[in-house]
Amino acid sequence: MFIDTHCHLEMIAEKRTNATEWQIIFQEAQKITKEAYLSNVSPLITIGTTLASSDIALHCATQIPDLFCTIGIHPSDGKESERDDLKKLEALLKQTAPGIIVGIGETGLDFHHPGFDKDQQKAFFRNQIELALIHKLPLVIHTRNAFDETLSIIDEYRNEQLRGVFHCFSEDLQAATEVIARGFYLGIDGPITYPKNTELRRIVSMLGLSNILLETDAPFLPPQSIRGKINHPAQVATIGAFIAELLQIPIEAVAEQTSTNARSLFGLQKK
Ligand SMILES: [Zn+2]
Repeated sequence: MFIDTHCHLEMIAEKRTNATEWQIIFQEAQKITKEAYLSNVSPLITIGTTLASSDIALHCATQIPDLFCTIGIHPSDGKESERDDLKKLEALLKQTAPGIIVGIGETGLDFHHPGFDKDQQKAFFRNQIELALIHKLPLVIHTRNAFDETLSIIDEYRNEQLRGVFHCFSEDLQAATEVIARGFYLGIDGPITYPKNTELRRIVSMLGLSNILLETDAPFLPPQSIRGKINHPAQVATIGAFIAELLQIPIEAVAEQTSTNARSLFGLQKK
């Protein structure tokens, strides 16, 4: 069995159904989880990016057996007006039984889209790191055009028990070794299958699987074989098969090592 450690179920459901009603989204989320299971992908972790999406993720994870969630605010979604949302995230953590919310994020820094506010992003990032530390949960880190600054914020906490994953890793080999040296995992997604992405393939070939988590980031980043379509968690098996081919090892070995890594980082006990 493969584990999809990073998908956005409510966004997949919205794209597939064009609906915004909670009941329809929930039913579709159940369907997607089942489809994934039938493709040997289970459990899944659905990732919050705003307070609203964290709330939906949590509702789904509370009710669907093979589903866990994280809650957090994406760096591109943290506006000053949403500062209060951090307190609300904390309230969600306090009122939820253990083992359903398995991480904090996605959070981090994104200096790609114009109009970003560095200081504000850093403040949101530090706040969510502290939340992760208090609740002993791993961090799901999003970083874009901001790797060095992301790393230096992580290093501010080097004496704490901070753990996590650099989700959708897309830096170079040197950066990958920096991440691993800090005990963090690399999240590998569909782009490893893209013809131009030789660097990501080099990283996985050189570093092996001990620090790798598989993820789809669905509905985004479909693997090459379904490019242009809506991505979904079952595709994590496609990424796994691609890596097995790349490393010339059995697909079962890829599933076993990456699922062991996912369980070790996120816990993922039977609910
Ligand atoms: Zn994501």
